[in-house]
Amino acid sequence: MRRHAIVVGGGIGGLATALALRRIGWQATVLERAAELGEIGAGMSQAPNALRALAELGVEEQARAVGAPTYSSGNLRTPDGRHLQQARPGDATALLAFARADLHRVLLEAVPTGWIRPDAEVTAIRQNADGVTVGFGGGELTADLVIAADGIRSTVRRLLWPDAPPPRFLGRTAWLGIAQVPGLPGSMTMGPGGYFLIHPIARGRAYWAYVTTADAPGVRYDQEKTEVARRVGTWHDPIPALVEATPGEAVIHIDICDLDPLPAYVRGRVALLGDAAHAMSPDRGQGAGQSIEDAVVLAAALAGEHTVDAALRRYDADRRPRTQATARGARKDGDRIISKAAHRAMVTMIRMMPARWWRKGIAADGNATWRWRPPRLPSPATRP
Ligand code: FAD
Repeated sequence: MRRHAIVVGGGIGGLATALALRRIGWQATVLERAAELGEIGAGMSQAPNALRALAELGVEEQARAVGAPTYSSGNLRTPDGRHLQQARPGDATALLAFARADLHRVLLEAVPTGWIRPDAEVTAIRQNADGVTVGFGGGELTADLVIAADGIRSTVRRLLWPDAPPPRFLGRTAWLGIAQVPGLPGSMTMGPGGYFLIHPIARGRAYWAYVTTADAPGVRYDQEKTEVARRVGTWHDPIPALVEATPGEAVIHIDICDLDPLPAYVRGRVALLGDAAHAMSPDRGQGAGQSIEDAVVLAAALAGEHTVDAALRRYDADRRPRTQATARGARKDGDRIISKAAHRAMVTMIRMMPARWWRKGIAADGNATWRWRPPRLPSPATRP
């Protein structure tokens, strides 16, 4: 009989998990609380580590078809428009940028029809020697394994890890949007206490994000677009025009939070995955990428070990060090980039760095996080 897993949450992490399980011959049910599956939010970039993981899931080509090459921090400027580092047109860049909804759709289209149950909010979970049972609006379901990919405010984490601290507000807030502005190269503009990121995305659009310091979470404005326009209105072109070109109702305002490291990602037959396990600050562009890596590593462990328990031990031992180091690094990077006090010194240091070093940073093996290679999943043809 085919092994069966319940995946809680149909975001990028949950769908990647369903695909990875399918690759190793398991069956999965994805319980998603939203009535309709889709990604809210604006855009994101993916680095070679995540693209390799997508290849292992069999959807790299489809993802590349909806992605756009981006230089992002290969093109660094100050708000007055000075270039600190500048990628040359044609410089190799290994980063791809996406509208979130596009990448999510690629995964969704590859998950077998019938595996997804929308409108199914998980509210309870219990386990015994025979398996795990989850309760959700609509009933109960029992499986060999539950993978909780229910995001930074995970219900499953709250139920099974009651001592885990809640998400930590990092003193930063962000506005995000997508505008129909073709032909912009990816760039990052560093001001004192805030930065503005631009990524070109498919179909002649650009994704932007403005991240800045905030004393407290939850501060909101009647007109979010007007507020962000006020803050970056004097920054160099095309920043003000890009904000102006974004439909007001599509401007998103969120507070940046992450999770303190958990002592374990596994409890019995339940594994946390993605933001539920290791939500991180966006400053390394790695949160969703790490969730895709999680999915491949978990499936490889399930395929390679004789028992589910042994596979979960392997998953936990493999993923905790890498994801927690990445989260730690992202938190630090964010503090540094946003620091008003360190701004002048950082700008001087970046300007002095040889351009060839900077350009290397956007190439395929640009940094240690990007060099990660996924374990091979058994190909469908060789599966027992
Ligand atoms: P989520 O996307 O949060 O999905 C969780 C899903 O679970 C949702 O669909 C939710 O409805 C569902 N759910 C929740 N509770 C329940 C329940 N009780 N029952 C059933 N369903 C439930 N990452 C990158 O890789 N690259 C980037 O460039 C990047 N940029 C970012 C920029 C910003 C500003 C932010 C905030 C994050 C960024 N990230 C980036 C991180 C990335 O967004 C997350 O890491 C990623 O979306 C996490 O995916 P997930 O599937 O784990 O969780």
